[in-house]
Amino acid sequence: MRTVHRVAELQAELAEWRARGESIALVPTMGNLHGGHLSLVQRARQLGECVVVSIFVNPLQFGPGEDFQRYPRPLERDRELLAGIGVDLLWLPRAQDLYPPDHRTRVRVTGLDDVLEGASRPGHFEGVATVVAMLLNAVRPDVLWLGQKDAQQALVLERMCLDLLEPVEVRRAPTVREPDGLALSSRNAYLSPEERRQALALWKGLEAARDMLEHGERSAARVEQRIREVWRRYPLVREDLIAVVDARTLERVADAQAGRKLLIMLAAHVGATRLIDNLEWTPR
Ligand code: AMP
Repeated sequence: MRTVHRVAELQAELAEWRARGESIALVPTMGNLHGGHLSLVQRARQLGECVVVSIFVNPLQFGPGEDFQRYPRPLERDRELLAGIGVDLLWLPRAQDLYPPDHRTRVRVTGLDDVLEGASRPGHFEGVATVVAMLLNAVRPDVLWLGQKDAQQALVLERMCLDLLEPVEVRRAPTVREPDGLALSSRNAYLSPEERRQALALWKGLEAARDMLEHGERSAARVEQRIREVWRRYPLVREDLIAVVDARTLERVADAQAGRKLLIMLAAHVGATRLIDNLEWTPR
């Protein structure tokens, strides 16, 4: 696996791949890799794509008081994990190259970037969309791989690629979970053992919601209420977001209706750590 830093080095390597006719996949990450990230690489490889993984802790997507400074950066471990699963190229962009002092451009996906998770974290999706637009322009991949774990992020980026006529196919991979159901996340590393136990509240809430819907419940308010009830058993968990929305528009729905895919979005503080999870569900 080659590691490159500068855009010019990256593009020189990719020019060779293109000359060989390879299909190029980009997996953007912030590092501190886990099985969720690796699953994106593995899916790309199974489809015969040459894989570029980028690791960049993007300052633009962190709000004031968020964890930019302390975000874990175990680079050597990440590098070994990626080499071990056959990643072709690791790109470690340098902050001064992506954001020179005179960098001014921002990408907004209005109506999708400022609701739900975007309302809790103002500017977050603008930071994500801006950096991913830049990564796409540098790599010019055939395929962009994203995780369902960050469902609103995936929707924002899918919309951005369509609206900006990005010549890329966006694919979403399912959420990878621990055996007990907790979604893998780089931020799980912040949890104490007791917080780790109580972090299961997110998955337990989603399971309870899914069970209700499968047994015929159609009221979004009652589904949201049920999740709140489940969370009462977890005193370290503080609600930030419980929302049943249309999976395509992110608009809140009153009722589940046949054929309309729903997204149940959750965010909660577990101790000092903010975690998110979600579940898609289509009523029959
Ligand atoms: P991050 O490093 O958190 O920015 O994530 C990089 C990519 O990995 C994003 O597309 C995420 O949605 C995806 N990802 C993160 N966690 C998971 C997971 N548990 N399962 C699947 N994909 C994930």
